[in-house]
Order: sequence, then C-alpha cells, then structure tokens
Amino acid sequence: MWNIHQAYIDGAFVPVQGSERLEIVSPATGQPIGTVTLANRDDAKRAIEAASRAQPVLAGSTRAQRIDMLRRLEAAVLARTEQICEATIEEYGGPLARSRWVSNYASQCFADTARMLEGYEFERRMGDAIVRMEPVGVAGLIAPWNSTAGSICSKLASAIAAGCASVIKPSEFSPLQAQVVTEALHEAGLPAGAVNVLLGRGGDVGDEIATHPAIAKISFTGSTATGKLIARAGLDTLKRVSLALSGKSATLVLDDADLPAVLPMALGAAFMNNGQACVAGTRLLIPNPQMAQAIELLRAAAAAMRVGDPRDPATAVGPLASKAQFERVQRYIRRGIEQGATLVAGGEGRPEGFDKGWFVRPTVFGNVRNDMDIAREEIFGPVLSVIGYDGEDEAVAIANDSPYGLQAYVFSSQQQRALDVASRLRAGTVLVNRVTPELSAPFGGVKQSGIGREFGLFGMEAFLEPKTVAVAQPG
Ligand code: NAD
Repeated sequence: MWNIHQAYIDGAFVPVQGSERLEIVSPATGQPIGTVTLANRDDAKRAIEAASRAQPVLAGSTRAQRIDMLRRLEAAVLARTEQICEATIEEYGGPLARSRWVSNYASQCFADTARMLEGYEFERRMGDAIVRMEPVGVAGLIAPWNSTAGSICSKLASAIAAGCASVIKPSEFSPLQAQVVTEALHEAGLPAGAVNVLLGRGGDVGDEIATHPAIAKISFTGSTATGKLIARAGLDTLKRVSLALSGKSATLVLDDADLPAVLPMALGAAFMNNGQACVAGTRLLIPNPQMAQAIELLRAAAAAMRVGDPRDPATAVGPLASKAQFERVQRYIRRGIEQGATLVAGGEGRPEGFDKGWFVRPTVFGNVRNDMDIAREEIFGPVLSVIGYDGEDEAVAIANDSPYGLQAYVFSSQQQRALDVASRLRAGTVLVNRVTPELSAPFGGVKQSGIGREFGLFGMEAFLEPKTVAVAQPG
C-alpha cells in the first residue's frame, strides 16, 4: 500500500499541512492501493516562497551549470525508469508499451533539452542593441493525470534550461506517478527550492499558484475549461501563460491511401493511451467511395484489439483511469447512438468477461456528422468517429471545423499531396504517414487547444524574455 502524505518543498520532503485524504484505487481491479493527503494553500505558499528564494540562484547559473543540472536530472530519472513505468501501469492502467514509452521519455527530455541548450544563443545583436534572453522568473507547472511523468519532466527541463525555479502541481489523481518522479528529482541534488512539488486540488493549490504575485509564469497542461480559468486567474498579475489544452484531432485518409496499411495506424492514433490522449486522432475522415471497405477493415481491426491487463504485452487498451472517466465515456457512447451514429464496433458497458475495473469496449462509430457531440467534444476514451467526405476541399473543411486544433494526421501514398493538405490544416502539429511525434519540434495547439509551445527550443523560450540593452555609440 502506498502512503503519500508529504510535499517536496525547499529540497526536502515535509508533511503537508492540508488534511484532505484521497484513496488511490487500481483502475484494473477497483481495489484500494494507497492513500494520499493533499496539500493546501499554505503548503503552496511555502513552496512558492522556497522557489522565490532559489530564483536568483537559478537565474545567475551559467549555461554549463544548467546543463549539469539537466544531466543530473536525466540520470536520476533514468534510474527510476522501471518504477515510473510500474506506477503508470498500477495507478493509471497504461498499457505496457505506452507506459514504457512515457517512462523513457521522462529522462529523455532532460537529455534533449541539455543538447539543445549547448547551442542556444542567449545573446544576439540587433542594430545597436544587445538582446539578452533572461529567465521570466518563478514558474508554476501544472500537470494533468494522463501524462504525469512526461508533463512534469518536459516542463521542468524547459524551466531549468531557462533558469527558472519551479513549483510543480501534478494532478491530485496521479499521486503515485508524481511521487516516484519527485523522489528522482530530489536525488538529482539541485539547489534547495529550485524544484518544489505538491499534490493538491486545482481550486486550492492550483489557484494559489495561478494567482500568487511571486509566480511569473504558468505552464499548464490540462483541459481547455481549466486553462481558461488559469488564464483569467493570472490576469491581475499579468502572468505569462503557456496552455497545452484539449483536442479533437482529425485523421485525413486521402483517396490514394492504402487502406489496409493505414487504418490500423489510424485506429492506433485514436486509441493510444487508452484513448486518454490530447492528441488522439478521434475523427477519422474517409472518402465516401471507400467508406464501405474502410468500415469493414475498422470493424475487424477494432474487434482484434485486446482489452485487458495493462501488464500483458498483447494488451492494446487497458482500463480507463477512474470511475469518472468510465462514466464519461459511457455517456458519450449513449449520446452517439441517440444522435443517430451507427455502432460499427464496441458500445456501452464493459467488454465481455469483465465485471470489475474501468474497462470499456473500444468503440467505432460510422455515419457520424461533424456536428454531432461525438465529433465536436473531447471524449477522452477509446471512441472513434468516422466521417465521410467528397473531395479534398471537403476533407480539409471538416477537419478545420472544430473549436480545437492540436494535432492532425494525413495519410496518402503521395507525399507532396499529403504535405499540400497538411499546409491547409489548422493544427499545431500535422503528422504525415506516421503517428509518432518529433519531440525536438514545438508542440502545442491553435484555437482552443492552447497558447504557446512546449518542447525543445520553443519550449525553453516560453520561460525566457528578451531584454534589450542599447548603448550610446561613441562619437
Ligand atoms: P484538468 O484541466 O481537469 O486538470 C489539469 C490540472 O489542472 C490538474 O493538476 C488540476 O488539479 C489542475 N486544476 C484544476 N482546476 C484548477 C484551477 N482552477 N486552477 C489551477 N489548477 C487547476 O485536466 P485533466 O482531467 O487532469 O487532464 C485531461 C485534459 O488534459 C484533457 O482535456 C486533455 O486533452 C488535456 N491534455 C492536454 C495535453 C496537451 O499537451 N495539449 C496533454 C495532456 C492532456
């Protein structure tokens, strides 16, 4: 049993002052696996004060010192890779391959950032002026429950590279993963207060971070609704905000694509991370003349997807993370049926043979119109909406007809044609004939999928501000 009753503040694990206790429940069995005591506003204030004391140390650090901190973080997190993977499976229900990927990424992002930092120009000449990129100040890093280790580590890597001390608030619904990562961060031996981590409610600890005058910058990943609250909360003190938010990504299969080859990839993009992925390609756009063939291929591919024990390497879809998630997905499946979509695979309830755990049936809907709720709203579970189109212009119009614009996918046997379509899509990222991201490139959304970019150079620059120093020229 896990017992997590401490926060990490000023370089030490300390008992939290908050008193709210939450039970941690295994999503695969429904059995309790631990308890967590949540921090409160006073804990958050202590963490912010510690980060404020550390800020001059971080801001004054040299490039070499920052690279050294990143390398130490990489080594400490790398040493915990197995534990991060295990916690992701146990607490979240992440399938083995995905959990491995996430836990490897947690250390990898420090290495990638260190490499990028080696060649970064902090100072540039512009006309008579010297323009110096300076750290923005103490950063609040707020993370969701669906990609805990990755979110924490990638935000922290950017903040350290820029010279910012951090107060990290992981989701109150992923305490195990947060605890393992925090132990690794502690082992990296950074200056006291450079990194502080506390688990607490969004409306309490999160709001304190989003409003406290000593916080200069918020880097938030989570839902669009919360992102708007955070942007509003930070307005009085004009905090810089980066918001990585919800998505409803479109996958465009062009009429020259090899359907048997690309549809399994498209299904994988829709159901990755048990469908609980901001970048999940949950609207699949198929040319009408090929719809019948596509539906049959999707029906077979969905039926072949193994749902079950996330530790089993053959499992494609594990349990959803919580009862709330399970109920949310059931609601959307019911709504899809009510609004006239056709069930191609899956449906309501648990898959056959499951009477416990938050397992759902991988679900594919055909005959979906883009104005149905299942096409407009982020479901955050393995539910795919298949939409027909006639001609490329209509495909692009449907893809862009969404409040969101995080990621899109294009499949075609002609690369240039796919690139031309990609250039017309309103999305922060477009993946062409692939579903794996390029992690050194900027990541983020347009429209209501967010503001700003994460990862690599752009991720670090989100924690920097240019200062212009212009000197009188002699004579
Ligand atoms: P959420 O918005 O409910 O919570 C995210 C974090 O914000 C949590 O730590 C929560 O405690 C905190 N929070 C809640 N209310 C707050 C407030 N008023 N002030 C400050 N903090 C507050 O999101 P979630 O359910 O944890 O995560 C799922 C969502 O995250 C999905 O919409 C998904 O698309 C999105 N997401 C986006 C990305 C991306 O990179 N764009 C990545 C992962 C997840």
